Amino acid sequence: MRDGTTATGADADEILTGIAGEPPVTDEGPAFTLELSQDQKDIRDWVHGFAEGVVRPAAHEWDEREETPWPVIQEAAKIGLYSFEAMGQFWADDTGLTLPVVNEELFWGDAGIGMAIMGTTLAVAAIFGQGTPEQLGEWIPQCFGTAEEPKVAAFCASEPDAGSDVSAIRTTAKYDEAKDEWVINGQKAWATNGGIAEVHVVIASVDRELGSRGHAAFVIPPGTPGCEQGAKVKKHGLRASHTADVHLDDCRVPGSCLLGGKEKLDERLARVREGKKAKSQAAMQTFEASRPTVGAQALGIARAAYEYSLEYAKEREQFGRSIIENQASAFALADMKLEIDAARLLVWRAAWMGRNGHKFENAEGSMSKLKAGEVAVWVTERAIQILGGNGYTREFPVERMHRDAKIYTIFEGTSEIQRLVIARAISGMQIR
Ligand SMILES: Cc1cc2nc3c(=O)[nH]c(=O)nc-3n(C[C@H](O)[C@H](O)[C@H](O)COP(=O)(O)OP(=O)(O)OC[C@H]3O[C@@H](n4cnc5c(N)ncnc54)[C@H](O)[C@@H]3O)c2cc1C
Repeated sequence: MRDGTTATGADADEILTGIAGEPPVTDEGPAFTLELSQDQKDIRDWVHGFAEGVVRPAAHEWDEREETPWPVIQEAAKIGLYSFEAMGQFWADDTGLTLPVVNEELFWGDAGIGMAIMGTTLAVAAIFGQGTPEQLGEWIPQCFGTAEEPKVAAFCASEPDAGSDVSAIRTTAKYDEAKDEWVINGQKAWATNGGIAEVHVVIASVDRELGSRGHAAFVIPPGTPGCEQGAKVKKHGLRASHTADVHLDDCRVPGSCLLGGKEKLDERLARVREGKKAKSQAAMQTFEASRPTVGAQALGIARAAYEYSLEYAKEREQFGRSIIENQASAFALADMKLEIDAARLLVWRAAWMGRNGHKFENAEGSMSKLKAGEVAVWVTERAIQILGGNGYTREFPVERMHRDAKIYTIFEGTSEIQRLVIARAISGMQIR
């Protein structure tokens, strides 16, 4: 809640009812508009204030420490920004624009801390997208913890030999009918919040012969034996966000932890075995829904680097004039602004389409993430150039922003995979 209060149980039910179920299909949904409502502007300004006052000043320290910035997460929880109620409110907005707006502002503050705060939402998106209403009510609040004791959640799809190729997932889930339990075995790689999460959502194969169509998503409840953190990864950027392997050794979870339930899974597997098309693939569904939001995070980094280098170019003097008076610098800044605004249009379009039940006929979700990720890398690199030697040092933030931006052409589908998805969508062909 924006006033810092915690929602009551009744509020929580209302929030979940508001965001649950299929998104409305267009005719009755809001028309696409670039005009934010007053409420959206208020939320944007509120998140911006937190990003400017709390996140940005802490960015350098946590990047150097390479640790989860728990005090900042606690601050976000205290003001109600990091909470299941707030996320529910952002998600429930029927224009779809609040979520990208919030992400852009937070990541404008800092991407590493931004990911430490928002990493949980990937697991939440999986539960939300695939869980039953009871599962949503049980697990989503636990992903966030409370204002006094915030927790984080992890979404574990990738494995050492299954990154872009999700169908190669080797982690298995076997059903023990006698005990109504699933037994999960395997190793997950590069999981954001892996091992430190209260709730892990794990993608596992229930029938390896079916490739990604034989996958299912499972919730691993807090403290489940057999779910352990493996090696923590030391990274190029996003260093305030924890990334680690997760080992699953005879990890037993109750039957009720299968997202969507066994009946639905059995029906889906039967359809696939009969050669019919499966409606959904567990990991893919989560990624597709979250792509515009991830694009918005990249936009936040790009905008931060652009704004910083614009101010610098106005102040820094060489040859007796500010460097922005040279066309080379001014045109670079003009192009940076142009590319950021173009990327935002794609992000907002995809976010609005996704929320209002428009099918991504031309992979508009992938387009938004691809463009925003590449713009972030390009803009932050230009920002370093504008700052010259200072840009290359850790005394100035654009160096960190450039390191942070690079992940946006890699995770949630690399740029090449996004192009593949777009190419297949526009051609209708199995491009390789
Ligand atoms: C910081 C960080 C956080 C992450 N967080 C999570 C998380 O929370 N949960 C999770 O499940 N995963 C997470 N990941 C994993 C991430 O999603 C994968 O790294 C990503 O999907 C790419 O997989 P890969 O690294 O195995 O690369 P690979 O798949 O090995 O790709 C290597 C290169 O080959 C190219 N390539 C591969 N196949 C093709 C093809 N068919 N056509 C053209 N080019 C191709 C790729 O584009 C890339 O350039 C995270 C990774 C990092 C680094």
